[in-house]
Parts: sequence; structure tokens; C-alpha cells
Amino acid sequence: MDSIFMKIIRREIPATIEYEDDDVIAIKDINPIAPIHILIIPKKFIPTVNDAVEADALLLGKMVLVAKRIASEKGVAEDGYRLIMNVGKGGGQTVFHIHLHLVAGKNLPFETA
Ligand code: AMP
Repeated sequence: MDSIFMKIIRREIPATIEYEDDDVIAIKDINPIAPIHILIIPKKFIPTVNDAVEADALLLGKMVLVAKRIASEKGVAEDGYRLIMNVGKGGGQTVFHIHLHLVAGKNLPFETA
């Protein structure tokens, strides 16, 4: 299976990479909703949270810790930020390769994303 994010991971299409290791990549969102809008993406292709299995638990946890690290590097950890994972069409998911949105840098209404 493939996704636009797999193409970014394989460097077939460009992206602004904020962080990368063996398990995850983090990129700037192409259509940001706030001054800081970064997507934390597992290199393993998992379409939605509904497709995640027990063996993905560490990977999913790591995504949150990478978000925390980036928030700290960007200087927004203390002020606060929002982590969002949309699940399925009804949850607002448009790219079917799981990703965590890290959004910060403005006052966020509850309804964001
Ligand atoms: P979601 O609606 O949760 O699936 O979020 C998908 C996000 O991916 C949206 O915020 C898009 O702006 C973003 N996006 C789509 N294509 C790209 C791309 N090529 N590079 C960076 N971000 C992208």
C-alpha cells in the first residue's frame, strides 16, 4: 500500500522535514492552520487508527514523544499546543496514513481541525 506520506518518506516528493529517525518522520503541514503545524508520521504504513494493532503500541507512543520533543524545540511546550489525530472520513481524515498533527502558536478554539 502507498500514500502521499510514503512518497515523502522515500523522497519522491518534497517536504520540509523537521525530524526523522528509523521509525517516524515529522514534516511541516503544507496547509498550516496555525504558525506551527507539523505532522508526525510513522514510516510504517498504517491507514487509520482503526488499522493499528497491539504491536504498534510503541510506535504510537513514540509519535507522541516526538511531538513533545518538537514542541519543546519550537519553544511552545510551556505555552501549550494541541495534538490531533483524525480517524476516518467522519473524523476529518484526508490522508489515509496515520499522522499526528502538532498545532501551536495561536489561541486554539476547541473546534480546531
Ligand atoms: P488529515 O485531514 O488529518 O488527514 O490531515 C492531512 C494533512 O496533511 C492536512 O493538514 C494537509 O494539509 C496535509 N498534507 C497533505 N499533503 C501534504 C504534503 N504533500 N505535505 C505536507 N502536508 C500535506
